[in-house]
Amino acid sequence: MKRNDIETQYKWNTDLIYSSKEAFDKDFEKAGKLIKEIAGREVLMCESARAFYDTLELLTETELIITKLYEYAHLNSDVDTADNAFLALSGKCENLFREMGAAAYYVSPKIIALDEKVLERWYEELPRLEAYRRNIEIERRYKPYMLDDSGEKLMAQMQMCLGSQENTRDVFSYADLKFEDTIDETGKRVPLNEANYVPFMFSHNREVRISAFTNLYKTYAQFANTYAALLNGYVKEKTTLAKIRKFASSLEASVFADEVPSSIYDNLIACVNQNMQVIYDYYALKKKALGVDELHMYDIYAPLVAEIDEKYTYEQAVEAVLDTVKVFGDEYKNTLEDGIKHKRWIDVFPTDNKKGGAYSAGCYGVQPYILLNFTQTLNDISTLAHEAGHSMHTYFSNKNNTPQQASYTIFVAEVASTVNELLLAHKLLRESNNNAQKRYILNELMETYKGTLYRQTMFAEFEKLMHAMSENGEILTADLLSEKYYEINKKYFGDAVVLDDAIRYEWMRIPHFYYNFYVYKYATCICAASAIVKRIETQGEAYVNKYIKFLSCGGSKSPLDSLKEAEIDMLSPDVVQAAIEDFSSVIKQFSELI
Ligand SMILES: [Zn+2]
Repeated sequence: MKRNDIETQYKWNTDLIYSSKEAFDKDFEKAGKLIKEIAGREVLMCESARAFYDTLELLTETELIITKLYEYAHLNSDVDTADNAFLALSGKCENLFREMGAAAYYVSPKIIALDEKVLERWYEELPRLEAYRRNIEIERRYKPYMLDDSGEKLMAQMQMCLGSQENTRDVFSYADLKFEDTIDETGKRVPLNEANYVPFMFSHNREVRISAFTNLYKTYAQFANTYAALLNGYVKEKTTLAKIRKFASSLEASVFADEVPSSIYDNLIACVNQNMQVIYDYYALKKKALGVDELHMYDIYAPLVAEIDEKYTYEQAVEAVLDTVKVFGDEYKNTLEDGIKHKRWIDVFPTDNKKGGAYSAGCYGVQPYILLNFTQTLNDISTLAHEAGHSMHTYFSNKNNTPQQASYTIFVAEVASTVNELLLAHKLLRESNNNAQKRYILNELMETYKGTLYRQTMFAEFEKLMHAMSENGEILTADLLSEKYYEINKKYFGDAVVLDDAIRYEWMRIPHFYYNFYVYKYATCICAASAIVKRIETQGEAYVNKYIKFLSCGGSKSPLDSLKEAEIDMLSPDVVQAAIEDFSSVIKQFSELI
């Protein structure tokens, strides 16, 4: 479809951000001036309470404007990626972020270096400064890890030449690496690459999967030493940086930034390790359902159920999602309904040159926006529920917090979206009397738990092991990485799966190993979401207010304290255990249905 053929009500309304190009230009110019002002306040900043406060206010104002500019440019660029004008505008806004970062380079070190007594006096002198107390405290947590002035200067300069391995890996994997052709569903030889590998693994045709699996790893195996050298360099860099700042390990340095103790990371791994039988049961079920003598690594993604033919209109999807979220009370449901039906939060249908996939975006002072590519499938309803969860989290965070404390952290970012997804699935399961549909939904739930809880924890465990080996002075060679990766796969796949030898090379194609202890958050988020859903379904209204409180925290509290508002104690293994039990129950339900 062409964008012009789509009715206005199905296109998001970005005029609410800027009503004209003139209004955008005016703010763009203002942002430039503000950045210059920031650069000029280095000496002044810590001269008085007032100067300190004004500098922080200036930063907040500048960031708000740049975020708004960027939002407008990228939303418009995404619905028509062939429109070079918006693409260029989007790039110019990204530059503004960089310029602001460069101009404000002195702010964090000055906040950290400030004398405690002076700061306390300033809070008394200028009570308005309290609005920044949490932001200031987050910065000052780093005080024990700071170096002296010359050390910090060196570190700042070094930043320019660090972190190149990820980019090198990406360029090599996606631009230079050429794989042997593979066969498609018709038996024709077609080019294989990282983008079409996963779709091939979802094929119903085993020959297609075998061909893609074999050819992909055959190529990777030839470059194992290059990949190992890159990963070794990356891990060495992270462990060295952590050591320079006197963190106990690179893991400690990374979770420190998330404001969580490393025991959460260790608990997750320990709890999943104690419950391997559940994932083994899942693979045994998969083997049985696929009717194969041996379940191989190339069968792991083979679809267990047929696609559902049933189509759903967008209006039906909206009603299903609104019906799901009515449990959260009037404000949640009415705001979302108004946003979808009247305020045009959502860009619904795929059109020529529109960006694929789905996302939720939002910045302070502007309504949330959701990009969809709705094609009438059951999966699209789930995506709408997921993105609506993000948008409503943003809505409650923005509404209940000042701009400096509105944004929530990555650690909780996938909780509200997953809660909605799980609630929708449970609702559809309750209401459906169609077994094919039920099997489809249960299969999706199993895939979610397998992919988000077990697979991400496996990655997290491997990541921890790599960093620990490097900290012990070991060199991460291709042989060592492949051997350890194979061992860990053996543990996570068990006896129900034939562990094909080529899987030992999979670590080479996982970009997340360059994300510095990021993936565990996928796993902890689904555990928190699962525990929340259980409470909503058993305690109803009495609990819902607590959940809304969690959504309203924004960044005003640490992620662990925010989750405590919803009675979720991430330090307790119960949360992970609850998610595993739910996974187990879904496996049982699916098993009964087949
Ligand atoms: Zn999401």
